[in-house]
Amino acid sequence: MAADENKVEIALLDSEFKHEVAREPGGENIKACFQCSSCTLSCPITELDDGFNPRRIIRKVLLGMREDVLSSEDIWNCAGCLMCYERCPQNVRFTDVVESLRRIALKESDAGRIKLGSSKPIFDRAFAGTVRRYGRIFEPEMMTRYLLFGKGPIGALGYTELGLRMFLKGKIPLLPHWIEGSSKVRRLFGTKGGGKE
Ligand code: SF4
Ligand code: SF4
Repeated sequence: MAADENKVEIALLDSEFKHEVAREPGGENIKACFQCSSCTLSCPITELDDGFNPRRIIRKVLLGMREDVLSSEDIWNCAGCLMCYERCPQNVRFTDVVESLRRIALKESDAGRIKLGSSKPIFDRAFAGTVRRYGRIFEPEMMTRYLLFGKGPIGALGYTELGLRMFLKGKIPLLPHWIEGSSKVRRLFGTKGGGKE
């Protein structure tokens, strides 16, 4: 870990942050954390990523490091395996806490107040968007949206040749295919209209 990561900018602390997280569904127990590290020691992601540390994320929330937490990549790296959830002696339920942090981060990003630390939620939205519309994924639209919003127009242009080659080999379709009952899938997302019954 870089030395700078241990620095706390007092002026940037938001003492309301822990209450904000505790009000979110899933974040209710965050203030019960007593920093025992059982979550971090149980976490398989720490084997792959030295910097990932659930205990430290909670500590930062409790300290009020709002922008640091919400704009970090870490909150998108939890795999949701529930090991920490099972082993926490305080029933903090980190797996649910991280979901509440993601929701707050997305809200703040949509309002233009923070920059997300990962392109994963952009991929998730692009993926879910095509499933909502067609009942299944439609790769050209999903990847176009992901690359445009995740890498920007210039970054997306770099994938044009690859996309064209895949299309010419018949690997990706030109038009979407609606599954039977796609409107029922749309209802699962809470939206109506269009598509086949
Ligand atoms: S296991 Fe629970 S109490 Fe211990 S540090 Fe993690 S969240 Fe906090
Ligand atoms: S749920 Fe997330 S933080 Fe908890 S052990 Fe699994 S990967 Fe690690």
